[in-house]
This record gives sequence, C-alpha cells and structure tokens, in this order.
Amino acid sequence: MSDPVAKNPVVRLRDLRRSFSQGGVTIDVLRGVNLEIRPGEIVALLGPSGSGKSTMLQAIGLLEGGFSGLIEIAGTNASQLSGDDRTALRRDHLGFVYQFHHLLPDFNAIENVVLPQMVAGKTRGEAETRAAELLTALGLAKRLDHRPSQLSGGEQQRVAVARALANRPEMVLADEPTGNLDEATADRVLEEFLKLVRGEGSAALIATHNERLALRMDRVVRLHEGVLE
Ligand code: ADP
Ligand code: MG
Repeated sequence: MSDPVAKNPVVRLRDLRRSFSQGGVTIDVLRGVNLEIRPGEIVALLGPSGSGKSTMLQAIGLLEGGFSGLIEIAGTNASQLSGDDRTALRRDHLGFVYQFHHLLPDFNAIENVVLPQMVAGKTRGEAETRAAELLTALGLAKRLDHRPSQLSGGEQQRVAVARALANRPEMVLADEPTGNLDEATADRVLEEFLKLVRGEGSAALIATHNERLALRMDRVVRLHEGVLE
C-alpha cells in the first residue's frame, strides 16, 4: 500500500552519466543510472571491479564534478548548488565509510567520532556521549582511547562506521567497507554495521562484493554496462 505522506526519497538519480577520457580514449562508465532510495532503506550495490560503483558513490556523495543528469539528496537538486551549499548538504544528510578507514592517525577512537560532530555544531559533551554510545554498540568500549595504529583492521573499520553515523545521517554511503578485511572479520563487521544502521533508521547504499550478505539487505541493485539492473 502506498503511503500518501511518504517522505522524499533520500536520494534520487535520473539519467546519471559520467565519462572519463584518458590518452585520447573515452570510456562511458555511467550511461544513464536511475535510482531512488527511500528513508531507512538499505540497498546493496553490486557489480564487478571497474563497473563504476565508486564513481556512482562519489556522485551521490557530491564529492566529484563531471556528472550529467539529476542528483537529488533529500529533495534538493544538488547539481545546481554552489560548493558551500553542496558541502552543507553532504554534511547534513550523508555519512561515508570507505574501504580504507581514513581515520585521523593522531587522534584516538573517540576523538575520531567526536570531531565531525563538533564541526557540525554539537558541544563536546554531546559529541562524546554519542561517540561512546556508538563505539560501545560496536564492541569498542575498551578501545576508546586507542589510536588507529593500536587497533586491528576490523576495529578500525568499526570506528569508521561509528564516525559515519555520528551525525545521524539520513543515508550512509559505503564503498566496499569491509573489502580490506579477511572474510570472517568482514562478515562480522558488515553484520554489525547493518544492525546499527537499521537501529538508527538510516538508509544506506553499500557497494560490496559479498553476494551472500547483499541478500540480507532490503534490495540489491547491479551495475552492468553503465546502468543499474
Ligand atoms: P568500481 O568501483 O566498480 O571498481 P570505478 O568507479 O572505480 O569502478 O571505476 C569505473 C571505471 O572508471 C574504471 O574503468 C576506472 O578506470 C574508470 N575511472 C574511475 N575514476 C577515474 C578517473 N578519475 N579517471 C579516469 N578513469 C577513471
Ligand atoms: Mg570501487
């Protein structure tokens, strides 16, 4: 049954295109991608290496230019915004997890989760409470004051997950978030990530090679020859 007061999709792509030229050769990576993700929906993005998953996530994350087509985030057409407004839209609505954690090496786990909240205007007290809650939910209660170099790969990615969710984004974009971990650790971290995202009510778009775990998400989309199927 359709909900007459359903909110805007958190992301809407219409005819998204991106080509790259290198050494006189042009490759059309995205050839008209259409996608809508509803609030709270968790979507797996599958596709072989080189199919354009990262390119698509960069478009939605408003991280790169050079795209044509419509990119709408929480009802706002992002393609017509100035740089500052894009930054604000990204900060207010999106969280990111990458294959390599990109944590700040000189800051401990809790600070890595506190800092983006302070950038977004929270007080240190609020930010620390939220960070400790998230890290505890991910099993890191005893690692709050460890720096990234003192954590295992799985623990580092858990901190990256906590950081992505810190500002309660409506959607998390994750680019092979467990691609750098051994299989058993990857399964556990992805499992915990999904549970936390569901608990928070965020939507997510997760690029992954893990077909089995993809089936645990609400929907699977595949990039094939530049379009989603
Ligand atoms: P995936 O994440 O699915 O592995 P990517 O989005 O990274 O795929 O890349 C898709 C294609 O676009 C690849 O052929 C890649 O070489 C090309 N590509 C991506 N980024 C660039 C870039 N900045 N310059 C040139 N080619 C690029
Ligand atoms: Mg990629």
